[in-house]
Parts: sequence; C-alpha cells; structure tokens
Amino acid sequence: MKDKGPIKITRVKDSRLPHTDLSDIKFGTIFTDHMFVADFRDGKWQAPEIVPYGPMPMEPAAKVFHYGQAVFEGMKAYKDEHGDVFLFRPEMNLQRINRSAWRLAMPPIPEAYFMEGLKALVDIDRDWIPSEYGASLYLRPVYFAIDNEIAASASGSYRFIIIASPAKSYYTGEVKVKIEERFSRACNGGVGFAKAAGNYAAQFLATERAKKEGYKQIIWTDSKTHEFVEEAGTMNLFFRIGDTLITAPTSDRILHGVTRDSIIRLARYHKMPVEVRRLTVDEVMDAARADQLKEIFGSGTAATVLPIKGIGYREEYYELNPPENSYANLLKQMLMDIQYNRVPDPFGWRVKV
Ligand SMILES: *Cc1c(COP(=O)(O)O)cnc(C)c1O
Repeated sequence: MKDKGPIKITRVKDSRLPHTDLSDIKFGTIFTDHMFVADFRDGKWQAPEIVPYGPMPMEPAAKVFHYGQAVFEGMKAYKDEHGDVFLFRPEMNLQRINRSAWRLAMPPIPEAYFMEGLKALVDIDRDWIPSEYGASLYLRPVYFAIDNEIAASASGSYRFIIIASPAKSYYTGEVKVKIEERFSRACNGGVGFAKAAGNYAAQFLATERAKKEGYKQIIWTDSKTHEFVEEAGTMNLFFRIGDTLITAPTSDRILHGVTRDSIIRLARYHKMPVEVRRLTVDEVMDAARADQLKEIFGSGTAATVLPIKGIGYREEYYELNPPENSYANLLKQMLMDIQYNRVPDPFGWRVKV
C-alpha cells in the first residue's frame, strides 16, 4: 500500500495489532495504531496529518476544557466477506458535524479533510477492522477549541482529529428505559440537535439515577411540558403501535440520526406504515395498557437497532413481548445487509474505502 494524497503520514514503528485480542474488546476502549489530525489556526486550515495514536500535549488554559466548545461524530467502517471496507453515508456525518460546529460558532470542516481523513485513516488501519458480521471499526471524529485563553468567547484556533476503535457486535442484554420528567437534555433554541460534547455530560446524572432503578437509558421528553416523547441519550426512538411505526420529527431538540433516517427510508421503501410525528407519553402508555404497544426500539450507529424490553413511567412499568414479525429485527437485518455489502444498495449509501 502506497502513501498517497496530500495527507502527511507518519506510521507507527511497531503495530500494536499483533498484541491485541479483537475478539474480546469493551466498546470504545481499544484504539488503532493511527489517528488523523488537522488544526485550524490563523484563519485557515493547516496541512492534515496521520500520526501514531497517542497523547496530545495541551495547555490547561485550552478553551475546550473551560467552555466545552467541542463537537463530535460517530460512524463505522464495515468489512464484507471479501475483505472490502465500506463507510455508511459519511456525507451525512460531514453535514451534521458542520451543523453542530455552526451552532457552537466554530468554522466548518472542509469536505476533503473530513472525507479524505476518514478514508486515509481507515485505509492505513484496515487490518484492525474485525471481519465478523456485526463487528466494525467505530470512527470518532472530534473537533474542539484549542486557544490557550480563558476568556469566555469563541476560540480562534481548533483541532479536528479522527480516532478509530474496533468494535464487536453490540450486545447489551435486556434494555429497559425510563421516561424522564424532571431533567431535560435539550430545549428550544438550544443545542440538542448538535452532537455537542456537553450534551452528553448533561445526561449523566439522570441516567445514573435511572440505572440505580434497573433501567439502562432515559427516554427524554420535551423540556416545556414533558408530555411528548423525544429520544434517548444517544439513540432516536421508534414506537410500534398496532402495525404502525412512529418516530418523532427532528427539531432543535432532537438529533437527526443517520440510522433514524435510514430506517424511515427503508421502512417506506418496503411499504411498512411509518409516521413521523410528535407522540405523547399518554399515547404510548395508553397503547401499552391496551396491549397495542408492540415494540419500542432505539436507532443509532453504535447499536444499529436496539430493541427495548420494558418501559417505566412514574410508578408504572410495562414489559414488551416483541411479536414474531418484529419490525426491529427486520429493519436491523435490512440495514446491516446493506452496510456489510450482502445485498444491492438501492440508495447509494455505501462508500467503498
Ligand atoms: C448520535 C446520536 C443519535 C444517533 O445518531 P446516528 O447518526 O444514528 O448514530 C441519536 N441521538 C443522539 C442524542 C445522538 O447523539
């Protein structure tokens, strides 16, 4: 493999791969040999590089530590049975990170830096991508403020990096979720639609509390009335009531998930009834009580589709028994078959690396 293009590449001397057991990894704890780095300074983007993964010296005054001016993305590279590697709709992640950056007053990342950076990193570390169906290379672009100045204003300089982490097939056991009514993750005019780093810290308290009660995740409701169900912390949500799939429309408060969009399009393509509309906690709980709430599932890059086992609301708890023709399983299969190049891709979603 020849180094190519304008990205300067410094390879590791010795790969850590031979000493890494890819069959036994905790999500997000093992990183590949290299990372992509590009800085924005003096009003322009500097030459991008791929360097060995490792510590980055930063000053304590770096703005990101004080004001959280940071946004990120989450995506995956998938290996098919011939060893070919694909990204999935990466242009959606580029658009989203630049919408997030806009909201946090950060300059846009040039398309070539994002796309070529991803491809070059995946290419140089392609041996790290597990080849089992369901496993993947999780890619984490992160973009943050690096001015060494503690004045509370937008930074003048930034760093954009991409790191990569091999991930096995996602399994979490039985997932129970709780409808949250006290805390909120997002509000009108806020940053909920952005993958802003601080959005996640803001969820930890409520999530930790719910975990003590045996739940895995929170279902966030609208911050104003707590009457409408919105999304989970890192997943959009789908509710199957009767035979109709319902998901909330994206907004200021709800993140525009790539998986969510793909599921809606797949469902429509296969003529499954799907509605994108607001739905209330009451509608969900009434459907549960009437035995019409057939399924709930989350959608997100990490888990693809995550079936929910039970839902808690105030003092009530409902357990769901997924029907044999589970929409979650069907849609997950259709999506993964496209991601892993097992079927034709009528939407043009796969991008070969
Ligand atoms: C990342 C994320 C999702 C899922 O988005 P995908 O593009 O499908 O991975 C959903 N909700 C929130 C809040 C997220 O941060």
